[in-house]
Amino acid sequence: MSILVVGTVAFDSIETPRGFAERVLGGSASYFAVAASFFSPVKIVGVVGEDFPEDYLEIFSQRGVDLQGLKRAPGETFHWRGRYHEDLNVRDTVELHLNVLTGFSPTLPESYRDAEYVFLGNIDPGMQIEVLSQLRRMRLVACDTMDHWIQGSGEALRKLLRRIEMLIINDSEARLLSGEHNIVRAARSILKMGPKVVLIKRGEYGVLLFSDSSIFATPAYPLEEVFDPTGAGDSFAGGFLGHLARSGDHGQGGLRRAIVYGSVVASFTVEDFGLQRLTRLSVEEIEERYQRFIELTDFHT
Ligand code: AMP
Repeated sequence: MSILVVGTVAFDSIETPRGFAERVLGGSASYFAVAASFFSPVKIVGVVGEDFPEDYLEIFSQRGVDLQGLKRAPGETFHWRGRYHEDLNVRDTVELHLNVLTGFSPTLPESYRDAEYVFLGNIDPGMQIEVLSQLRRMRLVACDTMDHWIQGSGEALRKLLRRIEMLIINDSEARLLSGEHNIVRAARSILKMGPKVVLIKRGEYGVLLFSDSSIFATPAYPLEEVFDPTGAGDSFAGGFLGHLARSGDHGQGGLRRAIVYGSVVASFTVEDFGLQRLTRLSVEEIEERYQRFIELTDFHT
């Protein structure tokens, strides 16, 4: 089953304690699409500027990602500059240039409108709603957001939350959105806003799933060295939804396995700068780490 994703396709300039990268391919839709492509076919909706190089598009093509819905508009590509602290769970946005994203109105190609699995990645909530309104037969809609949109477009975001099944969000953003500091209370409060499932990403501490009837927790895969945490959240979402679309199993067990696949893909993303590790990743490596994850969390033996 294929997955539609809308989000940013960006130039990222990144500084971490391990080094820096200038104007590499990034953006919420980019990480999601490449991560999900290991499990299911992916269609991207987004916009880039005239300055966006062909060899970046090639990264998507090599993973079989459908680019019909990725528009090229006059102007410059979205550019984000971020700096990580020694504690890699903390990052500052140093620059954010929306550029061609301002005023972009996504129109889905006809071949996209029957998508059943949908990820409304981190982008203007107004655009997330526009995409949702053009879809005819969704089975599962998940959504992400971040501080910039919670603070600037809160009303549109609240409207969107009433129409989706799942929210996949960082811990700090869950606090910001709910006004609750305690993460369990924050999740409960977000569940009241509309989504049936809330997934809270906690960086190196893993992921928590909340629904009305259950809570599930997984750690992040323990790594000795993290080069660049950028895109870990979107890669998690890509592996998670990718596996759900592949298996079609939305029950508790299916959700839990999908969370582990998401965590596995995210653990590869952070091993190198930008998308570099994902572009040389294999399905065998994913399966092998999935097995290691089972051993890591098994306490019945
Ligand atoms: P994450 O998975 O949370 O690490 O997401 C990192 C990606 O989000 C980077 O590749 C950025 O290009 C992108 N990004 C940063 N700020 C925004 C924003 N306000 N809206 C959409 N995407 C963003």
